[in-house]
Amino acid sequence: MTRRRVATLAAILLTVAAVGASAGTAAAFPPGVGPGGPILVVTDPGDPFGRYYAEILTAEGLNAFEVRDIGQVSDATLGAYSVVILAPTALTAAQASSLSSWVQNGGNLIAMRPAGALAGLLGLGSDTGDLENGYLRVNTASGPGAGITGDTMQFHDQADRWTLAGATTVADLYSGPTTATPNPAVTLRSVGSAGGQAAAFSYDLARSIVQTRQGNPAWEGQKRDGQIPPIRSDDLFFPDWVNLNKVAIPQADEQQRLLANLITQMSADRLPVPRFWYFPRGERAVVVMTGDDHTAGGTEEHFNRFLELSPASCSVADWDCVRSTSYVYTINDMTEAQVAAYQAQGFEIALHLDTGCADFTEASLRANWQTQRPDFLARWPVVEAPRTNRTHCIAWSDWASEPKVGREFGIRLDTNYYYWPGSWVQNRPGMFTGSGIPMRFADLDGSLIDVYQATTQLTDESEINIPAHIAALLDRALGPQGYYGAFTANMHTDRPVTLGANAIVAAAQARGVPVVSAEQLLDWVEGRNNSSFAGLSFDGSRLRFTLNQAAGARGLEAMVPAAAAGGRLSGLTRDGLPVPTASRVVKGIEYLVFAATPGAYVATYPPGGGTGGAGKAPPVGGTVPPRGGATAEDRLAPRVQVRPRRVRVSRRGLIRLRVSCPRSELRCRIDLRVRRPFVTVARKRFEVAGGKTRRVSLRLNRGTRRKLSRAGSLKAVALTTARDAAGNRATTRTPIRLLAPQRR
Ligand SMILES: [Zn+2]
Repeated sequence: MTRRRVATLAAILLTVAAVGASAGTAAAFPPGVGPGGPILVVTDPGDPFGRYYAEILTAEGLNAFEVRDIGQVSDATLGAYSVVILAPTALTAAQASSLSSWVQNGGNLIAMRPAGALAGLLGLGSDTGDLENGYLRVNTASGPGAGITGDTMQFHDQADRWTLAGATTVADLYSGPTTATPNPAVTLRSVGSAGGQAAAFSYDLARSIVQTRQGNPAWEGQKRDGQIPPIRSDDLFFPDWVNLNKVAIPQADEQQRLLANLITQMSADRLPVPRFWYFPRGERAVVVMTGDDHTAGGTEEHFNRFLELSPASCSVADWDCVRSTSYVYTINDMTEAQVAAYQAQGFEIALHLDTGCADFTEASLRANWQTQRPDFLARWPVVEAPRTNRTHCIAWSDWASEPKVGREFGIRLDTNYYYWPGSWVQNRPGMFTGSGIPMRFADLDGSLIDVYQATTQLTDESEINIPAHIAALLDRALGPQGYYGAFTANMHTDRPVTLGANAIVAAAQARGVPVVSAEQLLDWVEGRNNSSFAGLSFDGSRLRFTLNQAAGARGLEAMVPAAAAGGRLSGLTRDGLPVPTASRVVKGIEYLVFAATPGAYVATYPPGGGTGGAGKAPPVGGTVPPRGGATAEDRLAPRVQVRPRRVRVSRRGLIRLRVSCPRSELRCRIDLRVRRPFVTVARKRFEVAGGKTRRVSLRLNRGTRRKLSRAGSLKAVALTTARDAAGNRATTRTPIRLLAPQRR
């Protein structure tokens, strides 16, 4: 498209919110450290994989943890915590005894691939051998497994084949997708009379998740997929590291959510643990639109198309506008003014690093960055320094040089994991890295690399049915499976706007799912992950905490368990004032969700819980308190009202409507379309708080205005698709009559 077109479109966008200044790279707390209890991660100082549990807790929104080495564990230190996650480590007799008496006194221990010294405490018998790269199947009948998939899932690395000696089975170990073993994968046991519980994973969940997300470390540096060079990320998976018959299941996410459920339920009597939701404003899915551009002029056409597809007066900061990233070469012909205008409108233009489509070494990759990044920055002095990356030919020559070297040059999010080639994908939609959640990479030894992996699940070169793939991903995220995720697409920007890009945006818009750039996702993830809960205490009835919100976490939601040992939450206040909440069932557990405004919170439950320290009330009873699912959750879809029924159109083609969200809802996210037969003649997306009415003005398209001036009045339907905070969706149809503008 021409430059004049760009200027026109820019003028039409009435109030595009300015994109905030880039969040700094300084983390509020460094990766793998944590803001503070009541969850304690205990690590072996010689095994950096232990710190990956911090990354798992952060991804699950459990930003109330601390990490300590096993040497710092004693009777004195343990008393301050409600839950301990013990990474695989050798224990001295004194350490094992401290953990045991802490659990006897009401503590909740989750031991990963535990040492034999803890077998008695955990209710395990004897370790009868190892099982490598097998499967597990979660018991979904009750307890922490309710809400997790009942299909078998893969784990990686070693599991110990324990016999049971008193523990109950949360998940069974399988040697193949359909072959059970008599051994448990996850167990739980009630200990003593003070509400203490002890759980075990027979495998190291952190190692398994890293290898599920990043591939088989033993295949590092190998060309395996039979495709043209270079070595790519899929070579770490090819042919069978991921069982692609399972690709629909986010296998890593489901397993770490089982851990989150265990933490939530085990701690319910001692201290109900608050969490953050995964995406802004309760979104269950987000599309990350990106494209690689190797030639001169395709990026503008894509950006202009996304401007056209964005609702009028949309808010970039609220993810209402369709935005995207283009990874470009410096030969790109965009002018300085165009780059400035697109960036101001929220598009991301970043470097498409080129290794010459060849395998790299760490040194050669560093040299590529050293020459190409300055060229890119010099090409358009206004261009922002790249913070996200996809490398040409998605070269990925070893385990983690891409993120490690990229980090040296300011990269914080990487989209090089790529669901390709078509002969391997075989048109099966899903998440081949087992995850829809951006999480930091881990090095071979488990050390965290401060760069997020945002896997590209949709490409225009994987011979897939793109509309079917995006529909499957989004429907599984929004539907009962709860396979939430950020789904990254590469729809090349050096080609004309393709059916694929249009189909992805249409599928997202039809479901009210945002379409954002990689940088927008990064800013959000950084903001959410650096937000935290602090100063938590529970006196058996009142849960107190301070909520800190980091820059970038716009639209952040927090949630507290709907019930504690004594019963359902009776009230939530921030700085002494009541806070509205909405029910949301997440993986089988019911929470009450609220806007994560910073402040001092008190959540009040009926008395009956523990005291978060010594001398607790009796345990909840049973091994696992059944919770969620059966309780009164919000399954009511919001009934939105639209008024008036007769609308006078202004001379400029604007109509004004009033839209109300029922008082029973926290808020309604509304997609309002004015429809005439077969066509949408005006459209707007916005949000209305519960019990509030919002005036919105929409502009009719030109054809309808012409018809209206001839006919004097026209029938139309105001169609609203509304979603509440709990994610329920409802469509209402309100017949309206459009009246032609009054003549002077
Ligand atoms: Zn490329």
